[in-house]
Amino acid sequence: MKVVCPVCNRLFEAECTPYKQDYNNIVYYFDTEICMLAFLREPDRFAFKCKKENE
Ligand SMILES: [Zn+2]
Repeated sequence: MKVVCPVCNRLFEAECTPYKQDYNNIVYYFDTEICMLAFLREPDRFAFKCKKENE
């Protein structure tokens, strides 16, 4: 499964990383531990926004 790291926007295989976090019932995958730690510091800055919020 291809996923995008929410911190650096890099595309990678979810099966290839041990770094993932559940936030607001969405599982986020990270390509590196550094990206995961950045996300954990400011999750609202990196969490994916649902487009329906703006409609
Ligand atoms: Zn990353």
